[in-house]
Amino acid sequence: MNEKDIWDLVLERLKNAHGFSPMALELWFDGMIMEKLTPDVAYFSTDNALKKNIVESKYADVLKQDLKEVLGFDVRVVIVSREKQSFAEQFDELYANIVAGREPVDAEREKEDAVDAVSDNVFLSPSLSSGLPEYTFDNFVVGGSNNMAYTLAKSVAEHPAVIANPLFLYGAPGLGKTHLLYAITREISEKHPEYSIIYAKGEDFMNELVEALANKTPILFREKYRNADVLMLDDIQFISGKVSVQEEFFHTYEALFEAGKQIIVTADRLPKDIQSLAERLRSRFEHGIIADIQPPDLELRVAIFKRKAQMLGITVPNNVLMYLGENIKDNIRQIEGALKKMRASAIIQGTEINMEHAKNAVNDILTAKAAAISPEKVIEYISQKYQIPYEDILGRRKTDNVVMARQVAMYLLRELTVLSLANIGKAFNRDHSTVVNAINRVNEMMEEDCSFEAQVEDMIKDMQAVGY
Ligand code: ADP
Ligand code: MG
Repeated sequence: MNEKDIWDLVLERLKNAHGFSPMALELWFDGMIMEKLTPDVAYFSTDNALKKNIVESKYADVLKQDLKEVLGFDVRVVIVSREKQSFAEQFDELYANIVAGREPVDAEREKEDAVDAVSDNVFLSPSLSSGLPEYTFDNFVVGGSNNMAYTLAKSVAEHPAVIANPLFLYGAPGLGKTHLLYAITREISEKHPEYSIIYAKGEDFMNELVEALANKTPILFREKYRNADVLMLDDIQFISGKVSVQEEFFHTYEALFEAGKQIIVTADRLPKDIQSLAERLRSRFEHGIIADIQPPDLELRVAIFKRKAQMLGITVPNNVLMYLGENIKDNIRQIEGALKKMRASAIIQGTEINMEHAKNAVNDILTAKAAAISPEKVIEYISQKYQIPYEDILGRRKTDNVVMARQVAMYLLRELTVLSLANIGKAFNRDHSTVVNAINRVNEMMEEDCSFEAQVEDMIKDMQAVGY
């Protein structure tokens, strides 16, 4: 792989993922070359200045976005025109500018409306980026931990509303739920182009509903959702506690179910563990078919790595695959990011992919994970959960519920971060022994009271979801 291969991949995404007219793309991107990739900057040249200006003013955002998708990290974009001078002649000056910390001629920001590229009857949620051609059944690597979910998804795709209705898939973030939903979408829409298939995240369903109510267009909202042949609601835990959203979903559900339509729902946990989920919704889900996706074991992780590497067009030696499999465990999304970064580093250094690249990628993931869950985030979360002001959790108040909230926050930090007891203490202006006491107390309470234990486990899941 080299810069040209990377550029081909980016162009592929540009062409397929944003709904731009192929003619416009050809006009502006023809003659554009990715000259050089460094850890922070992608340098391009075009054959004339007009193209450079148009790309900078109209396509900058999507270009950066697609570059990030392909590389696995953010880079700045620098474009020069070869009209008067070759790229090589201009490069030294550009490079000197960048090393000196002067802003390169960064492309301007201007949004283009992205249009979804599937069939007219498929409503993709806005948060599902449209460039996901790789989320197919073929590309889903099956093992013991996801076999049941895969098999059920496949049968739903082959026989909607016959075998498993509703289908409820659950599992931790990054284990393939959305991948399966998208594979179902593709397969059904290929077989039944006339079907109206709706994929929405729990969050989008809610936002759309709120917007429809604000615009006084609930009828349109209902028409859309209640005319679906297949409705997929992804990450439904998001509507926990949102009474009116659940109400609306319940009526949608009933209408569709009675009409013999397929409903598929995913969440990061079982229906019974989603707090404040309306009883009637819970019982509907429990009457359907529930399948879990568990974290993959080493063998499956390595198999997924292998497949993803193939798809990314790179060769990764077996010992490197093993190393990655042993070190990247809980979220498959990280696998792809890691491989992309390794690919880019190999190109930047002009070498084959090796252990060094793998170690860096793993390190990045560990650092990102450690940074994702901070004392501030945990305290903020606990403050909302217990309805106690942020300052009170840090403060000196000794009311029962404030003390409890404070102790749980400390416990979560111990469980979820690599912070030392002393550093956890610091975040609360307390010393290390207070943290030890808090953790012991929470452990005791969890032993005594299994509903409290379940609550704490849920909170851990919530926080882990924040980390991704
Ligand atoms: P979730 O929706 O459960 O959070 P996603 O479906 O978004 O997870 O999956 C995260 C990433 O991991 C995606 O890139 C997906 O393709 C990949 N992935 C997950 N499981 C598998 C699998 N069994 N085989 C191949 N890729 C997988
Ligand atoms: Mg998902």
